[in-house]
Amino acid sequence: MLQDLAFGRLENEYRPVLPRDDDAVLCFRENALLVKKLPNGNLMLPTVGQIGGELQYAFRLHDVNYYLAAEAAEEGEYRYVPVRQLRYEAGNTFCYAAMTGWHLHRWYESSRFCGRCGVRTVHDEKERMVKCPNCGNMIFPRINPAIIVGVVSGDRIMLTKYAGRGYASYALIAGFTEIGETLEQTVQREVMEEVGLRVKNIRYYKSQPWGIDGNILMGFYCDLEGDDTVRLDENELALAQWHHRSTLPVEDDGYSLTREMIRVFGEGKEPK
Ligand SMILES: [Zn+2]
Repeated sequence: MLQDLAFGRLENEYRPVLPRDDDAVLCFRENALLVKKLPNGNLMLPTVGQIGGELQYAFRLHDVNYYLAAEAAEEGEYRYVPVRQLRYEAGNTFCYAAMTGWHLHRWYESSRFCGRCGVRTVHDEKERMVKCPNCGNMIFPRINPAIIVGVVSGDRIMLTKYAGRGYASYALIAGFTEIGETLEQTVQREVMEEVGLRVKNIRYYKSQPWGIDGNILMGFYCDLEGDDTVRLDENELALAQWHHRSTLPVEDDGYSLTREMIRVFGEGKEPK
């Protein structure tokens, strides 16, 4: 998956240090990231030495510190590439760093002013948090919890396609957690809302940070309880079908939790 690194980990503790010239800079303009395409097809970020101005420490990965910078001009071979396109142009490690940087960038961008009193916020010195010098409001990074669920009935799993989202591939039922509910209740509610089915035996699989949309995705499998007749929420879904584990119509892309969960079910290795 996106976040599975070959070695090391993304060190996202807030440990700001003074930038060095060869540290990496994540520079966003609207929905795009400034990158240079290397002859071998890999993408490269500009360095601190190339991008001046004010820098915000983001994280550390493979002994390189990453900083967020204000929008910079396209210079030399550096061009802005849409963030959503990066997964098709870059390896998972680059993509993971870019998506995490994007998530942080979006949060910093929308936390510049206090939502309670409107005064400009300042960054805390010790942790990743901005605070209001006027009313004391503390604003922590915003991460939206969402679930992905593989509904299982014997050797079949429920696959869906979203309505009107321009995403034509098969997916699993998914949705955001509401205030006041448990993740298990989110699973039950989303399955009921989207396909009108009751489920039981909800078991956790894995999670995935999904920085492109500011989410944390939590994957579950569960078993159908009772009738298997689908009542489709046509506002959310274009279709929902049962598929046998031996004839699944999608392959793992090595990137998304959804695809991995479908593959794992095909192999019969889902938590029982
Ligand atoms: Zn305030």
